[in-house]
Amino acid sequence: MSGSRGGGEGAARDALIARAAQAARDYAAAVRDRPVVPGAEALDALDAFAGPMPDGPGDPAKVLDTLIETGGPATVAQTGGRYFGFVNGGLLPIGLAARILADAWDQNAAMGVMSPVAARAEATCEAWLTELFGLPAGTKAGFVSGTSTATLCGLLAARHRLLANAGWDVNARGLNGAPRLRIVTGAEAHGTVLKAIAMAGFGTDCVEYVPVDANGAIRADALPTLDKRTLFIAQAGNVVSGGFDPLRPIARAVRDAGGWLHVDGAFGLWAAASPAQRHLTDGLALAHSCSADAHKTLNAPYDNGIVLCADGAALTAALHNSGSYIVLGGAARDGMLTTPEMSRRARGIELWAILAALGRSGVAALVGQLCARAAQFADELPRAGFPVLNDPVFNQVVTACDTDAETEATLARLQASGTAWMGGAEWRGRKVIRISVCSHATTPDDVTATVAALAKARDGAQP
Ligand SMILES: *Cc1c(COP(=O)(O)O)cnc(C)c1O
Repeated sequence: MSGSRGGGEGAARDALIARAAQAARDYAAAVRDRPVVPGAEALDALDAFAGPMPDGPGDPAKVLDTLIETGGPATVAQTGGRYFGFVNGGLLPIGLAARILADAWDQNAAMGVMSPVAARAEATCEAWLTELFGLPAGTKAGFVSGTSTATLCGLLAARHRLLANAGWDVNARGLNGAPRLRIVTGAEAHGTVLKAIAMAGFGTDCVEYVPVDANGAIRADALPTLDKRTLFIAQAGNVVSGGFDPLRPIARAVRDAGGWLHVDGAFGLWAAASPAQRHLTDGLALAHSCSADAHKTLNAPYDNGIVLCADGAALTAALHNSGSYIVLGGAARDGMLTTPEMSRRARGIELWAILAALGRSGVAALVGQLCARAAQFADELPRAGFPVLNDPVFNQVVTACDTDAETEATLARLQASGTAWMGGAEWRGRKVIRISVCSHATTPDDVTATVAALAKARDGAQP
């Protein structure tokens, strides 16, 4: 068969794949013992990536060696258990394995006819996530690169529906002269929400911001009067504090007015999948659309985001695409009808594999574990002299030193130490250190070691 075709070509391919697989194994086995950030030597070696483009072909095995030997040491070890930066999730072994296989399959998930396996994986994920998050039956999903794109999709579906309700076909007539929509969100909306508002043509200047409480969550008592032209974007999980907007009163108000509610739940939507955390997303089922990342809380490989839309017709209308050569509407699902892209990698495959491997209780346990480690931080930090500045309801913990200068110096020393990594932010008028627990690989010992490293960094010692 083709495996032996040409002998030499097959052998070279097999050797490349075997070498990459071995390197992936070696990396995973050693990542816990590596510095979390690459040192100066590893960064200097990256010059091997630069220089003029080769005039002609080289030896692929040598290229792979450069990646392994020079690229690997320059990675940020975010799969190792002591990476708490941004909200970057870890990587479950089944997700990695499924990703490797899916990459070998190189499926295009645009249409069912292009990849029955991708279509079936996406269809199953759509059904499973709808149930897992407690969303209305018939919810449509789009499998995209991340929450940025997922939020844009939700906003485009909203734009389509709200304008159609006003007798305006936005696909045909555009926004020039269209009825004006009101865009309402919390004062702590994520930057990607504002970006989506801009990309969708609403303009960020006309956003109406709702005041938030001490944890960065919208105050239900501060909601403005809404109307049927209102697109409301709420948040499940503030990127600094982890605070959740109160979805039920917001959804009630939006629904009573006849508007549209989108929920940015990049990492926090997964609370809905865990009985112990589900209260945080109470009312989610009343939203019209929501967005989430599998590459954050679920620890899927990058990139893996999902838009979920109760008004599937609006999502499909907003993202429709056709052409004489395009084959749609077969027995299998056509992914491109719910995504901005046409060609798209089959990220539903590793999403399916993770959900199948964890099951409902496994997803809940993963969410619960991240929250438990965050609670451990909140418990141990004060004993090391670090205040907890947020209400750590989910996976985020915010702390600081006595002064902004001390906070920044401490953070810089901690980041340079390679023991752990976390980022900074501004929170309620001061510089803070934000700890985001997002990896299944983080153990209780990792938390304790990280708190100790933070204390050493504050005290000026090399952690
Ligand atoms: C990470 C994040 C986003 C953006 O998600 P991407 O996957 O990076 O596009 C949006 N909102 C919140 C609250 C986030 O944490």
